[in-house]
Amino acid sequence: MSFTCKRCGLTSHNENDEDHRYCGVCHIYEDELLPVTRFSQITGIQHTLYLPIAQSELDAYERRDLLLQDAFPDLPAPEREFIKSGITPEEWQQFVVSPPPIQEEDDE
Ligand SMILES: [Zn+2]
Repeated sequence: MSFTCKRCGLTSHNENDEDHRYCGVCHIYEDELLPVTRFSQITGIQHTLYLPIAQSELDAYERRDLLLQDAFPDLPAPEREFIKSGITPEEWQQFVVSPPPIQEEDDE
């Protein structure tokens, strides 16, 4: 038996972690993760990420009561980006941080 964190994907073989479904990397219990489903603005693909946020925080953001950074001050930027635009941390890395080389046009 082992426990795999839905957020970071790491598997723990620690018995305590298994019993409590606790991720020692994220420092969070599985119960505290909220599934958030979005369509990526880059690829159009639907993803669900498990984020350490409360439904009430998400609601406040979606009602526009709070700005993204005020609703989720502790969330890492790539996960905040996902809430806003559906771009996953992987897509962000792939398309934004190191975008594929632009093909040079042969117009000479
Ligand atoms: Zn984790």
